[in-house]
Amino acid sequence: MIKHTPILSDALKTVLRAAAKTMTADMLKEAIAIQQIPAPTFDERTRAAYVADRFRALDLHDVTIDELQNVYARIPGAKRRTPNGKDEHKALLLSAHTDTVFDAETSLEIRRQHNRVYGPGIGDNSLGVAALLTAAEFFNHTPLPIDLWLVANSREEGLGDLGGIKATYKLLADKLAAAIVLEGMAFGRVYHAGIAVRRLHVRCHGEGGHSWLHFGRPSAIHGLMRLGAQITDIRVPESPRTTYNIGVIEGGSTVNSLASDASMLLDMRSEDKEALATLERQVRNLVEAQMHRDLTFSIEVVGDRPAGIVPRNHPLVQLARMALESVGAQPVYETGSTDANVLLAAGLPTVTVGITQGGNAHRTDEYIETPQLSDGLAQLFILMAAVGDWIKFA
Ligand SMILES: [Zn+2]
Repeated sequence: MIKHTPILSDALKTVLRAAAKTMTADMLKEAIAIQQIPAPTFDERTRAAYVADRFRALDLHDVTIDELQNVYARIPGAKRRTPNGKDEHKALLLSAHTDTVFDAETSLEIRRQHNRVYGPGIGDNSLGVAALLTAAEFFNHTPLPIDLWLVANSREEGLGDLGGIKATYKLLADKLAAAIVLEGMAFGRVYHAGIAVRRLHVRCHGEGGHSWLHFGRPSAIHGLMRLGAQITDIRVPESPRTTYNIGVIEGGSTVNSLASDASMLLDMRSEDKEALATLERQVRNLVEAQMHRDLTFSIEVVGDRPAGIVPRNHPLVQLARMALESVGAQPVYETGSTDANVLLAAGLPTVTVGITQGGNAHRTDEYIETPQLSDGLAQLFILMAAVGDWIKFA
């Protein structure tokens, strides 16, 4: 199935597994150190500076932070130059997002229990960033045959709209042959397809008034609720899987006032971009139908994540499978919405892989399991080594 793809020798895999094992305890310490630095989406500055310091301490090339707080570094390939001195091969990108869903006031206290470490953002994605730094340390010492770009990017969560990775891709597009995206808690999974996401901020405005004196006049909240009720009646296909969620609703001022303003945030997703477009059309038609003389609605697109896929039989996906199998894990193929969407939509072969298992993502009692950390890191080393060879010999 894997054409022109050199398979790593068992001896090399054993070496990589042993290396991962010796680096696992430090990776966990690093994950906790990163987790202790608040990094809400759009405010990743402090965490970005920390990662840049770690890159500099390893003496990596081209260490920079851009204006979106993406942190870049490069490890030159071991034999990447032809006799005439030109770059022979394109590079591998390894990325992990730094931002979290938690605001700056959230307590970041860590708690250990049995084989678990609990803490907001520990798995999503402090561990991913720690694995990025650990891989940087290892492959700086034992370089791939090709250039390796390391990026700790911003703006993956919430309304960040993948702004960090979009800027990364813009900067590095013509240098890259493939990408691996790290998500701390996704161990055992190979994300090879990104689902399409659209997010709308729907605002409703009316003139307002007094609840008794002006009863009967339109209220922005009543209008928005009617619209919301209609949206929740929309039937979406099970296949291609298509979903919607009104995740935030706001508005009004006091209990005895007709609301003059109300708004909702609507998240819509689909495996198929046509199905998503149909859903959005239905929503827009409902909004249109609600418009009458005294209430006005406006729609702002606040999220747009493109869809993309790299087929299961693609060498990169198969190497990710091989890497998991070589640490005794059973790979599960997944579709999801991560930074990889941007890269996949642009046609760059990309997989998202994890480092361990965990739970309660996006909650303050988020946790990671520690026993799999070593296998998770070994899988990453094996995957990166294999992809390096594949890019070089493909
Ligand atoms: Zn994440």
